[in-house]
Amino acid sequence: MADKPFFAVPAVPAAAPPAAHAPSTAHAATVHGTAGAAPRLLRSEEELQRLPASERIRYRLVDAGRRYHANDNIAEFLRAGEMAELKAELAAKLEEVLRALVIDTTGDHNTQQTAERVAKMYLDEVFAGRYKPMPSVTEFPNAERLNELMIVGPINVRSACSHHMVPIFGKVWIGILPNEHSNLIGLSKYARIADWIMSRPQIQEEAVTMLANELQARVRPDGLAIVMEADHFCMHWRGVKDTDTAMVNSVMRGAFLKDMNLRREFLSLLKRKEG
Ligand SMILES: [Zn+2]
Repeated sequence: MADKPFFAVPAVPAAAPPAAHAPSTAHAATVHGTAGAAPRLLRSEEELQRLPASERIRYRLVDAGRRYHANDNIAEFLRAGEMAELKAELAAKLEEVLRALVIDTTGDHNTQQTAERVAKMYLDEVFAGRYKPMPSVTEFPNAERLNELMIVGPINVRSACSHHMVPIFGKVWIGILPNEHSNLIGLSKYARIADWIMSRPQIQEEAVTMLANELQARVRPDGLAIVMEADHFCMHWRGVKDTDTAMVNSVMRGAFLKDMNLRREFLSLLKRKEG
């Protein structure tokens, strides 16, 4: 115990720190740590075992200096069995949310299992893209040296806005201009990668950028274009209750930026497919 870092890491396990405080504590420790050797924030995995799963995972993320925003994937920081722990932890907190809404979850048969159901829905389904590793995708060398514009879509996507945690339903179109060095991936894989990125609390502008980065890294095309059109339920269900508003945004890279004709071709084909 003598060589334990002296940083202000909260006591283990008596009072697990409130979720919101852990990162700032850790950051403060980094800033004020001794000069010289890089400060280590983390206790051993055995000590971490005594913390709630969410705190344990957060410690690993902070230690690695990794961002863990709503739309970041944190799969590599989860260990076996921790999804089940997270689910139980989340269900207990959601039960508190229902209590705070003054809902009688004991007497009201409709809400008796709601906390568990929502916890399961968040972790296993609608936000699964945060906790599951990237779907495996086989890449093929561009043996035929295809260099024609290729369009995939519309891919139906569902997400949730990270401002209100309500659904976003939309469509995505992807345009690829491969070159002879590009890796090609199967058509269905575009949908799987899109689903992985969208199944997180998202902001549409960031979602299309994340998708573009992922495809750029894998396919390495000369040009990449993505258009997303989506309904945001924070516009329908609350707020202005406007039911006709859809948000459209796009990312254009490489040849799609330089070549106006290519861009026009992509957008016109997309419109035709839509109709
Ligand atoms: Zn929103």
